[in-house]
Amino acid sequence: MPGNHYSGEAIVLEAYPSGKGRRICFFTPLSGCITVSIQGEPGPGSSLAGCGEYLSVQQIKAFSQGNWYILTMSKKIHSPRFGGNMLHYCLSALFSELIAGDLREPCPDLYSAFRNFILLESGVPVLPRALHLLAALIQVAGWQPELDCCTICGKSLYDNDQAVLSPANGGLVCGSCTPEQNTAEKHLPCSCFNPWTAICSTTAIEDCDKISSSAEGSSLLLREILHYYSYLRDRKPASLDMVLKQL
Ligand SMILES: [Zn+2]
Repeated sequence: MPGNHYSGEAIVLEAYPSGKGRRICFFTPLSGCITVSIQGEPGPGSSLAGCGEYLSVQQIKAFSQGNWYILTMSKKIHSPRFGGNMLHYCLSALFSELIAGDLREPCPDLYSAFRNFILLESGVPVLPRALHLLAALIQVAGWQPELDCCTICGKSLYDNDQAVLSPANGGLVCGSCTPEQNTAEKHLPCSCFNPWTAICSTTAIEDCDKISSSAEGSSLLLREILHYYSYLRDRKPASLDMVLKQL
């Protein structure tokens, strides 16, 4: 946080009642996560009225008071159009959990990925953007998996090789090291994971749509990434499967 002020764009991650006011957790591009308090309820015409909207992108000004930031102005840039989209809420929940727990440092790339996901226009494919967001999240968390070689025997893996993505081993495990009957996970051709590597190496959000060519392939990869993420966050992936079925 440069100085004791923050002025700029932010995403509302969380808003909850506190005394007679509210506390709002914002994710910012250059200052990481900051928490802001508001005293009293803003009226319907107030510029503060929209600032508690979950996942809206806001223009805010805040100054610090102890460990908190007091919000002095807020202007809504855009609210999400997703309505009840389960994938959106699921990713957001994962995201805010990571922000709250692990991410205090500035991270402009992750902010950009999240912002792009929130501001998706209707008609833009959701799955590739979701892949991009999750891949960025995993990278920032330091959990980037080994996708080029088997993490047990070290053998290089090619598109037609069969492997499982093992969070416990930190990446792919080849079919020789984990015979299919010994694992609950289904072996997949290594080519399934190519978009993950490609997405991680691109900064242009538009490229993500091109990289993950088919909806089926995107859905499969998203499932693998969610499993990987879930395991590392010690969550049960079953609920995420349910989310994917609703897409
Ligand atoms: Zn192996």
